[in-house]
Amino acid sequence: MSVFEEFKKQLLELNYLKSTLYILDWDEQVYMPEKGARIRANTKAYIAGLIHQKFTSKEFSKLLKEVKSLYEAKKLKDKEKVIFREVYREYERERKLPLEFVTELSRLTSEAHHTWAEARKQSNFKHFLPTLKKIIELKKEEANYYGFKESPYDALLETFEPGLTASQLDVIFEPLKQFLIPFLKQISRASLRVKKSKVKINPKIIQGKFPIEQQKPFLELVAKQIGFDYQKGRLDTSTHPFTTQFHPEDVRITTRFDEQTITPALGGTIHEVGHALYEMGIPVENFGSPLGESVSLGIHESQSRIWENQVGKSRHFWKYFYPKLQKQFPKPFKKIKMEEFYKTINMVKPSFIRVEADEVTYNLHIIIRYELERDLIEGKIKAEDLPKLWNQKVKDYLGIEIKNDADGVLQDVHWSGGMFGYFPTYSLGNLYAAQIFMCVKNVIPHLTKEFESGDFSSFGEWLKRNIHMHGKYYSAAELIEHISEEPLNSQYFIDYIKEKYSDIYRLD
Ligand code: ZN
Repeated sequence: MSVFEEFKKQLLELNYLKSTLYILDWDEQVYMPEKGARIRANTKAYIAGLIHQKFTSKEFSKLLKEVKSLYEAKKLKDKEKVIFREVYREYERERKLPLEFVTELSRLTSEAHHTWAEARKQSNFKHFLPTLKKIIELKKEEANYYGFKESPYDALLETFEPGLTASQLDVIFEPLKQFLIPFLKQISRASLRVKKSKVKINPKIIQGKFPIEQQKPFLELVAKQIGFDYQKGRLDTSTHPFTTQFHPEDVRITTRFDEQTITPALGGTIHEVGHALYEMGIPVENFGSPLGESVSLGIHESQSRIWENQVGKSRHFWKYFYPKLQKQFPKPFKKIKMEEFYKTINMVKPSFIRVEADEVTYNLHIIIRYELERDLIEGKIKAEDLPKLWNQKVKDYLGIEIKNDADGVLQDVHWSGGMFGYFPTYSLGNLYAAQIFMCVKNVIPHLTKEFESGDFSSFGEWLKRNIHMHGKYYSAAELIEHISEEPLNSQYFIDYIKEKYSDIYRLD
């Protein structure tokens, strides 16, 4: 066996272990009985330890060195170079963190989850503050271990969106913010006019009785139609919807239900199907190497958002599916015209809670979190001032007053898990989605007509060929340039929002 073949074999074995960990995690969130928690935590910790041991073993590092010399001697083929580059990057990063540090951070964050949940229940930020301060200190330390050029935040961002820096993010987010804040005000003023018009926007009209057993067949119909392959995947229920993949031929997604309305399960399912299609679109033969892995969290999120919003919240999509929805739920939909339904599912209303936010306000939620966490890590603000700063930003950007910390600074789980640098990827996903969608529309002129007849195959194929298939061959920045011939920017998203919502709210 050649050195490179041996290297690939070791990577494949590492992936078998990772798949084992993922399936344990999936089962924990979907099927595990309550009392299984303790043994499951121990089992997962053991497997995670095995992965770490194998990855940092003398044997593996010797092999990696040998591949490195092949790389330096220019003896690797194109794709082999990518495999080496990505594995080496991960290896170098992992090596930089001392074992005691990793153990301390993981101990602190698993405790912190409990403290955060309690604090949120009591809506008491002070209860979480001492733990949060420790986490921030450790994350600053982590950034120092990794090293950075401009901002310590860059080192943390690298975990989720490799190659992107805070100063690049500022260039992308600033025009978005400058557009969204006044645009939202314009919509709020127009809402009053729309309320009096013939086509009302009132979320209550689409509420009613939606038994889970009747929602499921409709969701399955939608999932199948847009390309989810039930022979390679499952759709289950969990408290927080998520996607996990063991292999391109075994992808699991989950959704959650609300018996008063179908929209959360519907939007959630389409979103997760988007993630799943990415994983299913990766060539099977690349499993076990970086060529079989997604580019970044931002690109992954673009695939869920493009299906959820650009497709699943469009008139074209509903032209096909609305009669089917009316048939499945004559009450309340038989009496509601499609146009009214379309406007209602796209209603814009500033709210406290990010996960429920519409397309216009969503990115403002993310920008608030990004600005705060960047300033925390850069030491420009103090953790004790967070509630005050949070509430002020929500007021300035979204125009609403936060009444309690549970709806404010305590609402998201991420910081308790030490996930600083994660939030921006949600917005990046929206921006990538808009830029990608514009390109697909240019190359497939009848795209929306196809949607109207329930044909989503050429769209799915395009995403597969231009994004999914490549794995980590391109970096996120290279991929978007490759697709759209320009770097990521917020203009496509701004144009998309302006066009869609000027129509819905009849703005001039
Ligand atoms: Zn997602």
